[in-house]
Amino acid sequence: MVVADNVHKHYGRTHVLRGIDLEVRRGEVCCVIGPSGSGKSTFLRCINHLEKISAGRLWVNGQLMGYREKGGRLHELRESEIAAQRREIGMVFQRFNLFPHMSVLANVMEAPVQVKRVPRDEARGIAMDLLERVGLADRATAYPEQLSGGQQQRVAIARALAMSPSLMLFDEPTSALDPELVGEVLDVMKDLAEGGMTMIVVTHEMGFAREVGDTLVFMDGGVVVERGTPREVLGSPQHERTQAFLSKVL
Ligand code: ADP
Ligand code: MG
Repeated sequence: MVVADNVHKHYGRTHVLRGIDLEVRRGEVCCVIGPSGSGKSTFLRCINHLEKISAGRLWVNGQLMGYREKGGRLHELRESEIAAQRREIGMVFQRFNLFPHMSVLANVMEAPVQVKRVPRDEARGIAMDLLERVGLADRATAYPEQLSGGQQQRVAIARALAMSPSLMLFDEPTSALDPELVGEVLDVMKDLAEGGMTMIVVTHEMGFAREVGDTLVFMDGGVVVERGTPREVLGSPQHERTQAFLSKVL
């Protein structure tokens, strides 16, 4: 589902991603851990082409992201083509970024109606099903500010799912939440994983990584230092940098 081949990203002179190689299979839940500043968010943003990579190749669902390769050369896709690729990928951020002036239901309906031109009645039905799935059908008419952070994040997940993505990216989805609200969001993500969604999850929730993750990736300094099953990486980390990091967070 995702293949990163020697992905580099520079911001000016700052070399943030320094040759990321990673494969994520269809249906896999890949959890990503690593110290602050190691490039985790940048990597997620490169996967859906919110950031252009400086070198390397990135494929999602068999498609080269952002480019067409012709005779060994890369040609950037048109905006509309990039937008079409991006629609396959749902993203959930640390901050929920819901539209504050729209109801919960309207938030979830917005992209299908505006971007995919799904008829409103149909979009409403899909949105209600998704709100049911994240346990918030009874809050459909509420506004974001009337919800807890955990509820808002569940709406954000429903909103991402409304576009029927084949890949979901999560960037520290529970980091901004009060501790007692973390569990309800992780439960929704676990349910999604059990439903077969391919997921890349940047998280500090080691319990989630251990229980739900198929693979665990440790990033540091813009590279993948170590990758294995959560049991392998958490239980017997091979690299000194992984050991040092885990000794601080476990
Ligand atoms: P992480 O998510 O692992 O904490 P980030 O991907 O956010 O790491 O950041 C990695 C590095 O890239 C940091 O040093 C950060 O300052 C830098 N960086 C991120 N975004 C930008 C940007 N838009 N411009 C310049 N530097 C950036
Ligand atoms: Mg980050």
